[in-house]
Amino acid sequence: MYIDSHCHIDFPDLSAQGDALFERMAAAGVTHALCVGVNFENLPRVLSMAERANVFASVGVHPEHTEGEEATVERLLELAIHPKVVAIGETGLDYYWHKDRPEWQRERFRNHIRAARASDKPLIIHTRDAAEDTIRLMREEGADQCGGVMHCFTETQDVADAALELGFYISFSGIVTFKNAVALKEVAKRVPLERLLIETDSPYLAPVPYRGKTNEPSYVPHVAAEIARLRDLPVEVVAQASTDNFFRLFRAAH
Ligand SMILES: [Zn+2]
Ligand SMILES: [Zn+2]
Repeated sequence: MYIDSHCHIDFPDLSAQGDALFERMAAAGVTHALCVGVNFENLPRVLSMAERANVFASVGVHPEHTEGEEATVERLLELAIHPKVVAIGETGLDYYWHKDRPEWQRERFRNHIRAARASDKPLIIHTRDAAEDTIRLMREEGADQCGGVMHCFTETQDVADAALELGFYISFSGIVTFKNAVALKEVAKRVPLERLLIETDSPYLAPVPYRGKTNEPSYVPHVAAEIARLRDLPVEVVAQASTDNFFRLFRAAH
């Protein structure tokens, strides 16, 4: 039993596949998925995905999303009331794609942390080329009060340790299966098993042996298999731990 803790199955490449996508998921032993919101405009599609019993949703505005409705604390709280919304995000900082308006990104990230604390829901945090500011804002805004996950983790052990210290979980994607991800593989060996999640971030970042293809939730066992190989554990142990962690963190009913 595996859970894809972060996917975008509402994106056209995946949603167009209808039931077939979920049949492949079930066949691969992937029992649940969390469909992560990236803006308010697409939220109705995310929520329609979450009409399935085994799909959960989150609400947030991704740091790369520069147009559309702005994420105020009030609006996030209003949308988070939906019974299938189990988290706030994805949110965070991305200085790789968007260097030009860092202060605006930081304000938006602060709003998400405040909404997560006020709604008592965990955060889904995206960080790229911005680890120092990400951790700083998490500390300044008291993100340890709501907890959450550092999704699609690609940072150093020091950043992982800082997030773990704030009570956060670390989620690994298909990147950990890439041959050149040498440093990341070391981090995947050392994150405590009870704080580890697995994800696809599909449709992006398909794991080996599907690298370069459209990713989907049914591929998440390949992420678990690589982590198990690195830690010299049976894959069932990683599957069970990441599944237990998912339900503990997101307090999702199943
Ligand atoms: Zn992301
Ligand atoms: Zn994502």
